[in-house]
Parts: sequence; C-alpha cells; structure tokens
Amino acid sequence: MMRSLSLRHSLFRILLGSTVLTAGLILLSVWNATDDLVQQNLEKELAIDTNILQHIVEERTKALYASTKALSTAYEFRAAFASYDPPTINSALQTMDARQDFDFLVMLNLQDETITSFPDNILVSGDRSFGERYRNIDPSEITRDYVFMNDTLYHAVVAPVAAPRVIGYLGAAFALDDNFLALLSEVVQAEVIITSDDNSARVLNSSLPHDFAARLIVRSDREINWFRIMAQDESLYEVRELELPGIDHIPVKIRIALDVSEQYLSVLDLQTVVIVIALGIIVLSLAISMVLARRVSTPVNQLVTAVNEIAEGHYQEPVKSDDRVSEIGELARAFNTMQARIRSREDHILFQAQHDMLSGLYNRHFVEEKLNQRLDAGETLQILGINIMGIRTINDLYGYTTGDFCIKTMAQRTLSWPGMAARLAGGDFLFVPDVPLDETAIDAFRQQLEAPVEFDGLVIPMKVFFAHLSCPSDGDTTEEVFRKINILSDESKQHDHWLIAFKEEMQTKYLRRLTIITELKKVLTGDQTELSMVYQPKVHLQTNRVCSVEALIRWNSASLGFVPPDEFIGIAEQAGLIEQVTTWVLERTLDDLAGFRQQGYVFSVAINLSTQDIQRPELMQSLAEKIAAKGLTPSDVELEITESDLVEDAALAIRNLNTLKAMGFHFAIDDFGTGYSSLAYLKTLPVQTIKIDKSFVLKLASDDSDQQIVRTVLNLAAVFHLCVVAEGVEDERSLQILKDGGCDIAQGYFISRPLTVPAMYEWLGSTHYGIQRTETT
Ligand code: C2E
Ligand code: CA
Ligand code: CA
Repeated sequence: MMRSLSLRHSLFRILLGSTVLTAGLILLSVWNATDDLVQQNLEKELAIDTNILQHIVEERTKALYASTKALSTAYEFRAAFASYDPPTINSALQTMDARQDFDFLVMLNLQDETITSFPDNILVSGDRSFGERYRNIDPSEITRDYVFMNDTLYHAVVAPVAAPRVIGYLGAAFALDDNFLALLSEVVQAEVIITSDDNSARVLNSSLPHDFAARLIVRSDREINWFRIMAQDESLYEVRELELPGIDHIPVKIRIALDVSEQYLSVLDLQTVVIVIALGIIVLSLAISMVLARRVSTPVNQLVTAVNEIAEGHYQEPVKSDDRVSEIGELARAFNTMQARIRSREDHILFQAQHDMLSGLYNRHFVEEKLNQRLDAGETLQILGINIMGIRTINDLYGYTTGDFCIKTMAQRTLSWPGMAARLAGGDFLFVPDVPLDETAIDAFRQQLEAPVEFDGLVIPMKVFFAHLSCPSDGDTTEEVFRKINILSDESKQHDHWLIAFKEEMQTKYLRRLTIITELKKVLTGDQTELSMVYQPKVHLQTNRVCSVEALIRWNSASLGFVPPDEFIGIAEQAGLIEQVTTWVLERTLDDLAGFRQQGYVFSVAINLSTQDIQRPELMQSLAEKIAAKGLTPSDVELEITESDLVEDAALAIRNLNTLKAMGFHFAIDDFGTGYSSLAYLKTLPVQTIKIDKSFVLKLASDDSDQQIVRTVLNLAAVFHLCVVAEGVEDERSLQILKDGGCDIAQGYFISRPLTVPAMYEWLGSTHYGIQRTETT
C-alpha cells in the first residue's frame, strides 16, 4: 500500500529535490570540465616533455659523436690505435684527457675484437655483438644505438678509425644513469624512470630514488581519483612510456612520470569551492523549501482543520484566511461563505425545529422540552392554555387563509405579553408568563385577544378560553400539563366560562368522558347491538289522539351500563361522532316508522338533531333519500332542534333549515325557554313548532312562575301561529293547565314513558288515547 504523504512533505520533497538535482548536475559538469582540463594540460605537458627529452638526448648524442669523431681523427690516437696495444692506447687517451667525455669507450679491430675498452668490464662482458653490428657502418653517418649493459642503458655512437685506411672502430657511449636522468628531470620538470622490459619492471635508473620509482610504476595503472588527491597521495604521478627511436630492441622501458598532485590540487580547490557552493545552495533550498512548504501547507492544514470542525458541526469560528497564497485565501473565503450559509441554514432549520411556522410561536415539541426543563428545575409556574374558540368554523366559513390570519394575529397579540408562548395545535396556545398574572391581568389579556380581527374586508369576532394551571401542584411533567389543559378545555365546552382553573374532580369526569368516547367508537364501528331506540307518544290535546312519537336513543353499554343520552350525545358531538350516531338513529327510526305504518298507524315521528347535523347539507340530503326509499314523505318526520344550537350560528342554521323546509320537512324548537335571545329568532326561523322545555312543565301544577312562563309562551306562539308542544307532563293537573292554556300537544310520563317498539305496540293496543289508523287489509 502506498503511504500518502502530507502536502507539506510532498512540496518539500519536490522543491528540495529539484534544487539538489540542479546543484548536482552543475557540480557534475564542473567536475567533469575541470577534470578534462587537467587531463588536457597533462597530455600537453607530457608531449612537450617528451619532445624536450628527445631533443636533449639528441643534442647529447651529437656532442658525443663530435667528441668521438674528434678523438678518432686525432693523430696521437690513430697512432696509438694502430699499435693495437691497449697500454699504448690507454696512455694516448690519458694524454688526450679524452675519457671524461664518455661513459665508456670501446676500441674494436676489424675482426670485431675488442682491443681495449674503458672501463675494462666492457671487455669482460665479452659482448661481441657490439662490434659485429658496427663493422660495416657507413663512415659518413653517425652510427648510433642504445646499448644495454650491466643493467645500464647507454646511448652509443660508433666512429671508424682511419689511418688513413680504416683500421678499427671507436665506440663511445654515455649512460642514461641516475645522474643523467636527474639532469633530464631538472630540464623537463618531470621524472624519468628506466626499468627492465619484463613483468618485474625492475627499476634500473631513475631521477627519483629507485624504491619510490618502483612504487610509482606499480601504482601507475591506478586511477587518479578524488580520494587519492584528498589524501595527498605521494605517488600522484602520471606515468607514460616514452618511445625513443632505436630503443625497441633493447629490453628496457623508459617512462616519464609527471607529478600531477599540484595540478589536481589546484582543480580540487575549484571543485571544493563548487561543492561548498552547491552544498550551500542545497542547505539554502532546504530552508527555503521548508519555509515555502510550510507557507502553503500551514494554511492548507488550517483549512483542513476548519473543514473538519465544520464537519463536526462547529460553524461559529470563521476560517482564518491566509492571503500569502492567493488561492488558499480564496479557498478560505469560500469556506467562510459556505460556513455562513450552513450557519444561517442551520439557524433556519433550528428555528423551524423549534417554532411553529404559521404563528412564529414555539412549537409543541420545543415547548414540551423547555417546560420539562423548567419543571425539572423545580420552578413554580403559572401555565395558561389559551384556546381560540371556533377556529374550525372560521376555516370552514371563510377559508384557511382567513383562519391562518386569525391565528397569526392572535400569536402577535400573545407575544406582546412577556413570557413563553407556543402553539400546540389548531387554535390551542400555551402561555407561560414570566411573572404570574392575576385574574384582572388575565382578563385584560383576554380582552386584547378578543378584539375582532379584520381581514380582507371581514370583521371576525374572536372568543378565547383560558385554562389555568399552577405548577408543579397541578402537574410536574409536560405530559400532565397538556393533559390537564385538554381536560380544562373540554370542561369549558360544558360551562360557558372563559377562565377555568383545574380541579381534581374534573379529572374523573374527563376520564369518564374519554371512556365514553372510546366505548361509543367501538359500538359505532361494531355491530351496534348496544344501541336501541325508544319512542315516546305525543298526544294532540284537542282531539286526545296520539299524533306523533319522539324517537329517543338508548345505550346499554356492556362495560359502562346504561349511559343517559343527555350525557353521551353531548360527548359524541364534541368528539365528532354525532354524524355516525345520527345516521344510525335515522336508519333505525325510519325503519321502525315504516313498521308502524305497515301496521296502519298514522302518527309521525320526531327525531332529535344536533347542531352539527343541521350544518351538514349532505346529511339532510341523505335523510331525504332514505325517507323516499322507505316509502315515507318528509312530512312524516319532524326534526327537533335545540334552541341553543340555533343561537350559535343562526345565519347558517337558517339557510339550511330553509332548504329543508323547502323539501317538506317540519321543525320544532326543542327545549324552548332555556336559551336567551330565542324570541327574536322566531320571526326569521322556518319553524312550525316550539317545544316548551320540561323544566317549566314538570312542576307546572304547583309552581306559579312556571305557569306564568308557560302562559306567556303560549300567547307568544299564538301571535306567531306556532304549534306548541309541552314535554315533561307528569300529572293530570299539569295536562289540564296546558289544555286550558291552548297548548296543542303534550308529551310526558303521565301519558307514557318512552317505549321500545314491542312495548309501543302493546301500549297502542291498550291506551285510552285515540289512535288514527289506516285501513289495514
Ligand atoms: P329531549 O329532546 O328534551 O327529550 C326529552 C327528554 O325528556 C327525554 O329524555 C325523555 O325521556 C324525557 N321525558 C319525557 N317526558 C318526561 C317526563 O314526564 N318526566 C321526565 N322527568 N322526563 C321526561 P332522554 O330520553 O333521556 O333524552 C335526553 C335528551 O337526549 C333529549 O332531550 C335529547 O336532547 C337527547 N336525545 C335523545 N335521543 C336523541 C337522539 O336520538 N338524537 C339526538 N341528537 N339527541 C337525542
Ligand atoms: Ca326532543
Ligand atoms: Ca327537552
């Protein structure tokens, strides 16, 4: 696996690498160039030295030949030579003082025999070849040659001795001995070494001490390198073989040795300077590379750190922008922009997570958390649940835009109070004031909230309800708080008070309500055998005939026992279950009515409807269809509507009722007298009948004020030409009073309790009231 390098290292390597490479290349070429220069100089010097050397040898030869020639032509010498007597020759030579010019002299007769020699050992050596070689020489030329004798190289010349006829030969030579070599060396400024021409290369003569010369020869094939130069090797000589004419048949080698240490050392100085400079450059570039690499890598590393920070969700610290490297500065700025955007997006998301988008108040989730924290911390809190009543109706009537505007306006108004405000759902707000509000303050709050909202040319009245909790005594968890606010708002629907504080018994009541809702739901979605209908006869007082029956629902719950309709109908309305109940009631009642009709009974049936029922035109439509399907007509059915239902939204109710009336339905105002402004509506309502509430009838016989009220109602009804029904007639005297007062119809236990269908048949068969029947076949 390849190990990844840090940016800093890579940069550093590249920068340093390239400088080292450049410095190395420069160094190498300087090195080579200087080496070449030294080499060239050496070659040149060697060539010159060789020339000079040859030249000297040549000059010496010429001088030797001149001396030899002079000797051979000298009279005394020729005379002495002619005697062939060595002592004579010797004395002649002595007289002429000629010996010092030669290293050796040899005199040969024509038979090539040595007559005498100087020194003597030439004779002793018995080298006859010397004479043989020179016997036939041309007297006009210098006859020369190298001679190797007694481990010494000689340069020899031969001159014929004529008197006047050639009588012999005179050979003379000078030795290339140490002294001569020393002389040569002095002139050419190089050493000369003569060795044997065999593998041992024995040093024969040399301008240098022989053992040193021998070492030089041995090392001559060793390369001159830097280490030897540095070590100042004493044998730092360039050694060359010399090619002297005429030497090739002699078993010796002449070498010239040039001391090159100085040359190399001077170059070495130059090279050292270059190396030092190169090293300096490398060190400098090392430093520069480090600085540069750091300059790039530090901000990059900072960026990497910053980006990691961002990745971990820390957006607060801005990324430091390093402008020394422009791209990196650019990048840092880009990161900052990105960070700012992420931050604002996160703020936005956080806001969204904590707030309710419509109202701008906290949302339920967030306030739940906040409230739990505060309750856990042991704070004592006043918590107000604010319920905007009828928000659903506003939505239905004016559309959601209007509904939303109302919620927003209410939220704004709430926010003007110091405290923590949240919207839980729909029109349900929660408000925790910073300082607990007393009832007067809450009332001021309410009045502010209930100011009508103006929107799109509409003026919408507002009504709010406050649930009041004192925590922790009313609840130490949010869950409990929310639950109790629900209990209170539920409670508020039964009592018309705008501010309710929590009381323990509400809980039991609420729980029962919850059970009723659950059980009722079960019943309605199940086989519905727990529900049944009973019918209570109404008698027309003038004719004493049963003219109608009121259909009343019964619920015998397996788990709750008998649940009075007064209790569960209201709950069903609030729980949104009333539509199903009404549907069931209509179905069953119309069936039963059809049954009564089949048995020939002509009475009609009165069905109780709830507020929500009359606000649903489709229900009314299906009622008409069902009636037709059972072979009945709308006039067979009377619909009882409670007065309070009408008051809540009169305009809509009136519209719907008119439609139904047009279809042929009859209406009765139920519980008449319990509402407030009902009288005003009588004019505009499409009702034919009013039912005086049983609360005025039950004790009619004994209560004067009840009598007063009933009389007033009867008079009023007469003015409007309305039919009046009195319910709750429990005794004969009351019945009589009603009859006397002109009441049209009576209903009550005195006549009959509500009866099941079979009981009804029985009652119909046995009652003394008149029954109207069609002819049955
Ligand atoms: P309501 O419409 O006023 O019905 C009359 C109530 O008075 C019935 O009570 C009836 O049993 C009772 N009552 C009749 N005569 C007497 C009497 O002489 N003395 C006494 N003490 N009471 C008498 P119930 O059946 O308990 O019904 C209570 C309420 O439940 C009804 O009041 C009605 O508002 C509602 N309700 C009953 N059945 C239905 C239904 O099918 N649909 C709807 N929407 N509401 C229903
Ligand atoms: Ca009724
Ligand atoms: Ca009633």
